[in-house]
Amino acid sequence: MRSRSTLALMGLLIASLVHAENFTEANTDRAKALIDAAVAAHGGDAMMEDLRTLVVKTRTVNYSVDQSRGTEAPWDTSINDSVDVIDIENSVFVNHAKGTGGGFENHNRTIINGEESYQLDYRAGTVAGIAEPDFATTSGPFVRVTPALLIRTLKEREANAHFLGETRIDGTDYNVVGFSMTVGPAISLYLEKGTNLLRRSERVFPGFGLVEYRFDDYETRNEVPYNRSFTLYLNGDVNLEREIKSLSVNVPIEDYLAVPEKFVAIPEVQPDPLSRQELSEGVWLIGGNGTYAMFVDMGDYIFAAGGTAGIPDRIDSLREVVGDKPLRYGMMTHHHFDHVLGVPAYEEEGATVIAATDHERIVRRAAASGETLDIQLVDDKFVLENDARRVEIVDIGPTAHTEHLLVAWLPEEGILFEADHFAMPAAGPVPPAVTSTKTFAKALEKQGFKVKLIASAHSAKPGTPEDLARALQTEEFQARR
Ligand SMILES: [Zn+2]
Repeated sequence: MRSRSTLALMGLLIASLVHAENFTEANTDRAKALIDAAVAAHGGDAMMEDLRTLVVKTRTVNYSVDQSRGTEAPWDTSINDSVDVIDIENSVFVNHAKGTGGGFENHNRTIINGEESYQLDYRAGTVAGIAEPDFATTSGPFVRVTPALLIRTLKEREANAHFLGETRIDGTDYNVVGFSMTVGPAISLYLEKGTNLLRRSERVFPGFGLVEYRFDDYETRNEVPYNRSFTLYLNGDVNLEREIKSLSVNVPIEDYLAVPEKFVAIPEVQPDPLSRQELSEGVWLIGGNGTYAMFVDMGDYIFAAGGTAGIPDRIDSLREVVGDKPLRYGMMTHHHFDHVLGVPAYEEEGATVIAATDHERIVRRAAASGETLDIQLVDDKFVLENDARRVEIVDIGPTAHTEHLLVAWLPEEGILFEADHFAMPAAGPVPPAVTSTKTFAKALEKQGFKVKLIASAHSAKPGTPEDLARALQTEEFQARR
């Protein structure tokens, strides 16, 4: 009896193993056949072997979904002009970008070229070396939106590719193949049946959502089809539209690798581990890796300002100096998604979350339990005061970045905490002020704050009024020459 059931079980196991093997093999074979067809459709040898360099100039319109000045559509748009340069054989990549948006102006170039790798800031006129240049990570975003390069990468990595299925969208039939690049989440590629051209791709970011790319118009150059535009959808909404202004194949790229003369060398960007600074007695700026929050000891409780990434770690660090004193308030500076990530952490502490009245919906949406979230809404001003301390929470908006901006102002200490308007660089001179900084400075003047120190959600280094004045006075590098 026992041996019979064991045999039956073994038989079942063998059957399922055989089935699994066949299934895997069949799937891998199907994926490989589809990849070969896609390679042929995207230029075959001309793409796999003859393609050496690409220089692509683009104009991108970005729709700032949930990152606009207001909390609802229509969203603010920003425009970015870019040049991407890749030398596949030598693992060289350059991105030169100039744009405006969210009250910021940017003009930068990143050069990944082995030991000659640099980060250039054209507004400040500074150049910093890149200690650990990473070709795959830096070129990844360009490769993902350039079908010829994406299909090449797919072919190179076909060992980890899978056939995911067939689907029909808006009357077009697709085979879908999934694979992973060296960095980032898995990508699903939608290959149009018949032409075998890449028409769509998608990736899922946990906690963020679905990112889709669509490639609708191909033009053949040097036997390889290149897209003339693409659209990026974020959770179904248009987030980015890019037009390819020009594309050059197998041209020399040396000109893009040179650092322009008169640029001032500044130290390399260093790793920024979690740290805690005491700005004044009982006032700490805690953070690392580009995000910081301020904590104020109010005597019998703690007030916190800032909702960026990593709030639980920052609270752990705070506990080392304040023990289990209750964290009673957590202030959200504004509604942008990277500034409400901390809501659940404050919620778990049992804290009241302070937010601008206009931002209530977004803050509740960011909470683990939005309906029951304890929230204190602020119209103009909300004051916390006792024998130990006075903290004023003031809406200093509108600015060029957001309609409402809550800052935490400690009048006794002269310390102000803000987000996204004035972040000191880790090294080098204070760069010329962007529009966001200019409107922030005007708002401070209007409030009459006698500020000694400006702590920011995105800088480890608090700025002084002299730093702010210097930023406002400094002309852009090009204008200085
Ligand atoms: Zn923001």
